Amino acid sequence: MSSKALVCVVCSTMTVFAAERMSIAVCNQGDVPEKTVAGAESVVEAIFNPLRIDVAWNGCEESGSGLNIILRLRRDGPAGSERADSLDVMGMAFTAAGVAGSRADAYFGAIEGFARRHQADPAEVLGYVVAHELGHLLLGPGHSAGSIMSASWNDKTLEAARQRWLTFNQSQRAAIHRELQVRTLQAARWTAGQSYGHRPASRTTQPKIKINLRVINEANLEQKTLQKAQKEATAILGLAGLEVNWLACEDGRADWSSHSPCQQLPGPADFWLRIRPHKPAGSDSETLGYTVLDSIQNLGSAGICYPAVEAVARRHRAAIHQILAAAIVHEVGHLLLGGTHAHSPQGIMVARWGAREFELLSIGELRFTAKQAEQLRSVLGNGQKSE
Ligand SMILES: [Zn+2]
Ligand SMILES: [Zn+2]
Repeated sequence: MSSKALVCVVCSTMTVFAAERMSIAVCNQGDVPEKTVAGAESVVEAIFNPLRIDVAWNGCEESGSGLNIILRLRRDGPAGSERADSLDVMGMAFTAAGVAGSRADAYFGAIEGFARRHQADPAEVLGYVVAHELGHLLLGPGHSAGSIMSASWNDKTLEAARQRWLTFNQSQRAAIHRELQVRTLQAARWTAGQSYGHRPASRTTQPKIKINLRVINEANLEQKTLQKAQKEATAILGLAGLEVNWLACEDGRADWSSHSPCQQLPGPADFWLRIRPHKPAGSDSETLGYTVLDSIQNLGSAGICYPAVEAVARRHRAAIHQILAAAIVHEVGHLLLGGTHAHSPQGIMVARWGAREFELLSIGELRFTAKQAEQLRSVLGNGQKSE
């Protein structure tokens, strides 16, 4: 057996698939007839509602709950439209450097032309175009044939769309849910962070961003090991500019009148961390941890599977507290940066740790990359009070 084989799955990310919501502000700059707009809206709903995503339509500049998107309906299209049946001549999603965005345009002039050539209803085509551009806002710039994210359309795709066969495929659906949840979560944190009030930084050094981890030691592991792991995790997170406040919490019914910090209503920087005595159902024995991102409660919680930590430490002749610390830090990374897309080819957010990661881990060098550190701070940092 090769000792260089990738040896363990660090974590799995579970997502609570709740009904999510997009609020779309429609700016009808091209005077598209009301009836056409209404028809297009019902096409968009027919595509997103089966995914358990509610779509709310607002007037231009109005905002609503969930992910807010601005949609402009225009007559003119982008300059240099060379392929007339390309979806992207009929619409455009504004995404910065491959990162999903929140503004899209639909070009009704090109849409009418396409509808005429294919004897289609312009309202329907407008609906498909809007759904396609919303797809780009959530999934990024890529196209894939056989789905609503197909790059160009012909009579066949149009017919499939009309029959409701053309929608988002399985992997696109999962990615859309993840993206919606992460962005709703980030928006909630941003809003809550704002309400902390803004104070000018008194020092020239960058203040640390505070997070509170509510630890529930379900595995009953000894305090000495837990404290050593917390110390190590504090050091790794500190390098990324985060300051951790560890709370020793117990499971039980919530009692909001209690003065225990574990019982207070969680804020945007509060997370639950469970050290579990078993592996979660459906995970393999080498899964060290998992993260649950909950879009309803705007609260993430993470778990560490202690038996897997012990097994991995034994196999790699590593200290238990070091493996535990690194697993905790990895999950904190998911709590703040989101699901599997937070994984990276190097550093502590590598999805599957191999020999190189364990080597780095043993000398305390398995950390967040500089870019991740910046992202971690920006998720919570805006407006967080510094003292
Ligand atoms: Zn992970
Ligand atoms: Zn496209």
